[in-house]
Amino acid sequence: MQTAAFPIPYCWLNGAIVPAAEAAISVYDHGLLYGDGVFEGLRFYQRTPFRIERHLQRLQDSAAALGITLPYDADALREGISALISRYDGESGYLRLVVTRGPGNLGLNPRNCATPNVFILADQLSMASSEAQEKGLKLIIASVRRTVGAGLDPRVKSLNYLTSILARMEANVAGADEALLLNERGQVAEASAENLFIVRQGRLLTPPTSDGALAGVTRSVIMELAQANNISVSERTLTPYDLYTADECFLTGSGAGILPVAEVDGRPLRTSPGEILQRLRQAFAALIAQECSA
Ligand code: PMP
Repeated sequence: MQTAAFPIPYCWLNGAIVPAAEAAISVYDHGLLYGDGVFEGLRFYQRTPFRIERHLQRLQDSAAALGITLPYDADALREGISALISRYDGESGYLRLVVTRGPGNLGLNPRNCATPNVFILADQLSMASSEAQEKGLKLIIASVRRTVGAGLDPRVKSLNYLTSILARMEANVAGADEALLLNERGQVAEASAENLFIVRQGRLLTPPTSDGALAGVTRSVIMELAQANNISVSERTLTPYDLYTADECFLTGSGAGILPVAEVDGRPLRTSPGEILQRLRQAFAALIAQECSA
């Protein structure tokens, strides 16, 4: 079968697979009305999802934190993903798994929602231009903050991304590629949809999740790969000063991959892409090839 340049996106919706353009859920779904739901984003290569167990675990954790009972267990979701990838006309792509609170009435009380809707999209996603991927991104520090210890725990990957979206809008206005969020203590949390690492004197540092970072799957893979490649890595609270004076800085995410950072708030970093990023990128590609072979 010939692979189309842009494969048609497909959707697994509550157990049935349809072209994404035909998938529909109720306008009374609280996922839409209130952002009440959770999601995951992951990639597949050679028709094999990368680190699917970690993503399913995080989805279950996010749902548990919001008191949403998943109508499908991990086996059923794994089977759904596998059937969806078989239908999709591309060897690699991006999967978006969404669980909503489900349709209810117009009040926000989740008690009125009977059954969550679950859908999985298979499509393509590119998060940065090839120039930004090669040379590095321009970042700004957003004025909006991640709140830690008040309200929603940032470890929950919920359908409400408005803080990230507001940060990204600030980046757009400033002509930057991406925005970083600080927590209310002025410490670095993460980027709008990626985790952050810096390199200082050969050591890799990343903020702990208690500073407002999502427990990123790519973040944990990078920490594993660093250890396997004798690169010292630790979680440490970082401030804007640590970014401005870093030897290198990069962002990680399932959608983004590993993206070098060229400058933060108009201050160019010493190297972009740096040596450690390049080593980790190679190791990451090798790991994907190993874990996702046809
Ligand atoms: N932080 C946020 C806010 C995100 O949305 C994402 C993307 N899921 C990440 C970090 C990176 O996480 P992962 O490596 O699991 O994709």
